[in-house]
Amino acid sequence: MEGLFHEDLAALSDLDEQSLLESLSQRFKQDRIYTYIGDILVAINPFKYLPLYVKEVSERYKYHEKSKLPPHIFAVADRAYQSMMGRLATGPRNQCIVISGESGAGKTESTKLLLRQIMELCRANSQLEQQILQVNPLLEAFGNAQTVMNDNSSRFGKYIQLRFHNSSVKGAKINEYLLEKSRVVHQDEGERNFHIFYCMLAGISPEDKDMYGLLDPTQYRYLNGRYGSEDIVRKWGEKYSEVCNAMDMVGFQEQEKVDMMTILAGILSLGNIMFEPTETDVLRVTGKSMGWLKATAGQFGVQEEELLRSLTCTLSVTRGEAIRRLHNQQQAEDARDSIAKVAYGRVFGWIVSKVNELLAPNVDFDVELNEIGILDIFGFENFAVNRFEQLCINLANEQLQYFFNHHIFLMEQNEYKEEGIEWETISFKDNKPILDLILTKPIGILSLLDEQSAFPQASDRDFVDKLNSKFKSSPHYEVVRSHSPLFTVVHYAGKVQYNGGGFLEMNRDTIPASIRDLFINSVTPLLSVLFAGLNVSADDNFNSTRKQSVGAQFKHSLAVLMEKMFVANPHFVRCIKPNGNKLPDQVDNKRVMDQLRYNGLLETIRIRRDGFSWRPSFKEFAQRCVCVLLHLIKCNLCGLWVFFSCLSILNTTAIHGWKCGSSRLFFKYWHQEELSRLLERL
Ligand code: ADP
Ligand code: MG
Repeated sequence: MEGLFHEDLAALSDLDEQSLLESLSQRFKQDRIYTYIGDILVAINPFKYLPLYVKEVSERYKYHEKSKLPPHIFAVADRAYQSMMGRLATGPRNQCIVISGESGAGKTESTKLLLRQIMELCRANSQLEQQILQVNPLLEAFGNAQTVMNDNSSRFGKYIQLRFHNSSVKGAKINEYLLEKSRVVHQDEGERNFHIFYCMLAGISPEDKDMYGLLDPTQYRYLNGRYGSEDIVRKWGEKYSEVCNAMDMVGFQEQEKVDMMTILAGILSLGNIMFEPTETDVLRVTGKSMGWLKATAGQFGVQEEELLRSLTCTLSVTRGEAIRRLHNQQQAEDARDSIAKVAYGRVFGWIVSKVNELLAPNVDFDVELNEIGILDIFGFENFAVNRFEQLCINLANEQLQYFFNHHIFLMEQNEYKEEGIEWETISFKDNKPILDLILTKPIGILSLLDEQSAFPQASDRDFVDKLNSKFKSSPHYEVVRSHSPLFTVVHYAGKVQYNGGGFLEMNRDTIPASIRDLFINSVTPLLSVLFAGLNVSADDNFNSTRKQSVGAQFKHSLAVLMEKMFVANPHFVRCIKPNGNKLPDQVDNKRVMDQLRYNGLLETIRIRRDGFSWRPSFKEFAQRCVCVLLHLIKCNLCGLWVFFSCLSILNTTAIHGWKCGSSRLFFKYWHQEELSRLLERL
């Protein structure tokens, strides 16, 4: 064990930040990327292939004893599955696995491995299990992109709910959060658009390209990044066939696929439309982009003049009178980009809803289903310029950190107090005040944003001025002296400066009625469906009579998610990114230390070491023993003594260090397994 450093850091008696870092990095250097802190798994991204996930390993971790095998992501899958089946601890049958970490730390890979192993655990080889695994390439093609942080970065968050009846999977549901639509129209240096565009351009046959009106990738303004070598093009092409297979499997009809690709081609053409003012101040499409206008109209299946009109002016109806306002150049470009974003967002939402239809559980309503949820959302973000999207992402991370703290620190320590267990309180960084700063009604950041968004005349400056005056004395808010509408939030993971420019518009996310009408009348069937609001997931509830702001919607979906998670039995996977260069075998101590700190891992070790993570009530405990014992009686293996009360059972075992509260028992995290072993041996 010594040579391996500790597999379970909660077992270290002497612990400080330095030794934590040292243990993790020593293990990492031996390719031991997984380490436990009690029942929490720490995973360091190896950035290289390790033979850790082959069939044989997967078999070994099925129904295993935690202490007998090295830490592994498969062990988390096993635990969640066994707990869902009620085979391990008592407690809620529904499980949730929360995976956190910064971009590129390995969350999505971990999610895939968990899914795979859980499907292995179900054993059956039904079509449904295959489908659950195969929708992933489809979602990744449309929702992932290359960023400076990660070559395959998920640009949306997801919560996958696997639904079981007894031991077999009956269905799944995917909830998606906050697709980064702005990527469709703009990518920073070193970043790319969503994978699907490159796949499509590399994979579609020349004849089909003609049909879709697709040209050479270098022609498109919306596509950043050189296409790369032939080798890379081939890889994109292969990915395209994979996506097509996935689409067939999900059950897209041929026409739907064609429509989808045509809409994507339309988005690319649209991006090339440029405008210039004329002498009469009316805006026109530049001579060079006339062709693009025509192409876009063809691809979107709309009238060229109507498309032009919706780009160059807004029609508003005041007291029954239609008023046409001409756009200036900037407004026309914004209209163009927002059409592209909304069209892409709708396509993505539609794909997710199709996938959910396919994976919907096909069982009677009165059959009780248990659930394992896996949460893979974007990590904390802090860029050179942080916008409304970053605020939402960081809010989600605050919420998750709160969930973690709540489970690991608050709930546990409150229980010690209530049950009269002797305990020296472990302090932790409580981020509730930061959540309140953003979420509180009526004066949280989001409420103030909604308030300002309701005034058509309000500017982003007004919004930030409001924030400054309300929160200047908050310890988690900093006023920024600048001409730009900047403000800083002191998040649990560090300070982030936000640029309030565009917050109001992004929060409103309105689409002019003319654009909606344009698409509803499209002769491309899929487009008119998408904009008539059929079959669309809650990407933006554009069709509801009173449109909710983006902030309010996100706040709502987070609340729904949290409600689900708070009643489930949680499992935590903390992913760590070892270096900023995406390189194997390199540990950047400062980077790793930062992550350990804001993850609160040191405090976690302390509470896992000293605390009691398994806390069954007397009744639950008795049931657990009795179940096993009754089974043994049935097998005629033992006598009447099994009916001794649980306490006397415990007193006869060699299990030490447990405590007895007023209504429940308190066990160290390793006791559970010790007890199972003992019971099995009886
Ligand atoms: P995140 O979702 O946290 O942004 P990803 O899961 O996409 O990060 O991981 C980023 C990249 O790191 C992956 O594309 C892969 O190359 C590499 N990676 C992550 N986890 C592993 C692993 N367990 N083994 C090998 N490579 C990994
Ligand atoms: Mg990811």
